[in-house]
Amino acid sequence: MIQDIAPHLYHNAYLPRAPREGDQVLLCRPNGVFLREQPAAYPEALRLSPNGEHLRYLFAIDETAFYLWEGELPVLDAFPAEEGWDWHTTEIFRFLEPRFLGFAGITGYRLWLWYGSNRFCGRCGKPLVHHDTLRALSCPECSNLIFPTISPCVIVAVTNGDRLLLTHYAAGHSNYRHYALIAGYTETGESLEDSVHREVFEETGLRVKNLRFYKSQPWPFSGTILAGFFCELDGSDEITLEKEELSEAVWLTRDEIPVPNDHSSITNEMIDVFCGRFPS
Ligand SMILES: [Zn+2]
Repeated sequence: MIQDIAPHLYHNAYLPRAPREGDQVLLCRPNGVFLREQPAAYPEALRLSPNGEHLRYLFAIDETAFYLWEGELPVLDAFPAEEGWDWHTTEIFRFLEPRFLGFAGITGYRLWLWYGSNRFCGRCGKPLVHHDTLRALSCPECSNLIFPTISPCVIVAVTNGDRLLLTHYAAGHSNYRHYALIAGYTETGESLEDSVHREVFEETGLRVKNLRFYKSQPWPFSGTILAGFFCELDGSDEITLEKEELSEAVWLTRDEIPVPNDHSSITNEMIDVFCGRFPS
């Protein structure tokens, strides 16, 4: 999965420091991050800003700190296209090698989105400022403290003997075109288990039992924390499709399920687990 970057270690503690040699900078724009794909790298912090100006500390992986760039973009002239530097959509982070750089890229991009969406206090309307010691924004007027938003979501593998329930999203709901599992946000006042039962029923009309938690996964593409569950069909296997969200929901046997196109998501890992292909 995208967060599985061993032997590298992700250090999420908010410990801002001045840039050192080897530290890297994420330059972001809507659905785009500036990088070199081969060999993968982000612009070096000391090359962009030797004194640390315009750099917002994000996190570290091993000894390497990652920053967001908060200055002007013409600075990119120092990183020419002839040397492989370019803008890429966030889709690249599903595949970028080494994987810890893909994880750094999408995690930093999510924080960039969050910073950009939280410039003013939602309570009193005054401009927010960066907190000194926390990864948070604070309001100097009313002391409102805003932390990065993470939405809980369930991913559900519904099994029926040798068959697994797989879906395709409707065109207007998601750009993801490969097989998916049942997925949905947890609502206020709801447990993760309640979300499993509700989402499966809403999307397919099916009832389930014997829920078993599998693993969780941070999924910065959508700002969610995903909780993966296996469960068994309870009762009829007749599907009533929720057509706003799904274009298809089908029961496939292990032999009929294709090998997933990438291994960044908990969805694809769970499909492989069901098929006996994980760990590979
Ligand atoms: Zn305020």
